[in-house]
Amino acid sequence: MLLKACQKLIEIVYPPLCLCCRRRAEQLRHLFCKSCLEHLTLLDPEHRCTRCFAPIESAGMCRSCATQHAPFKRHAAACENFGPPLSLLTHLKRGQHALAKTIASLMVMQHTKLDWTLPDWIVPLPTHLFPALNPQGKLVHGVASEVARIFDKPLVSAIKKSIDYSYFGNLDPKQEPTRFSSVSHKTAALADKTLLLISLSADREEIAQACEQLQGFFPKEISSMGFLFPSE
Ligand SMILES: [Zn+2]
Ligand SMILES: [Zn+2]
Repeated sequence: MLLKACQKLIEIVYPPLCLCCRRRAEQLRHLFCKSCLEHLTLLDPEHRCTRCFAPIESAGMCRSCATQHAPFKRHAAACENFGPPLSLLTHLKRGQHALAKTIASLMVMQHTKLDWTLPDWIVPLPTHLFPALNPQGKLVHGVASEVARIFDKPLVSAIKKSIDYSYFGNLDPKQEPTRFSSVSHKTAALADKTLLLISLSADREEIAQACEQLQGFFPKEISSMGFLFPSE
């Protein structure tokens, strides 16, 4: 009774606002208003490449996957890079760390909907050279930990970002100053296992580079699940 009264009082003083449109949400525990909640849906695999999830006209694989060997078995994302899902990521980046659970749940729901093999290890995609020095550096790790908790599988930071020294002598404007490198002490544990790479809104190139590095552990297969599918 008292708890309910307190909750009502909090709702009057601090009305719960929708994370996306800032209109009033129905209840304190609701992140979104009713109409935004209806737009929080999982991406449909129809008309998407069966390997990299890129939108395509027909069924099957996109031209790039059909002609080049991707270093992952499959990549998909949970949601579109727009509206309520994008608001979830924006608020996570602004420090609402509790949203990592919601984001992880959506990714696990997509994993289940796509009927993927259960992973043996969850691997977060590193985003920063020195994650401890940047508040954004641990966000993927936080979401990946929640994914690992839901699947009840171990999490391993098998790769990290390192400086790519070839960058300094290279004139290619597209070359990045960092690359992925493996954290080698887990080599034996990852061999012949199914790895699930977790990212938030990384592009195909980044996912491919990370998976190439993960291939060095000789896993059975690598799947990759992102939260938002990056817009072209
Ligand atoms: Zn709303
Ligand atoms: Zn593809």
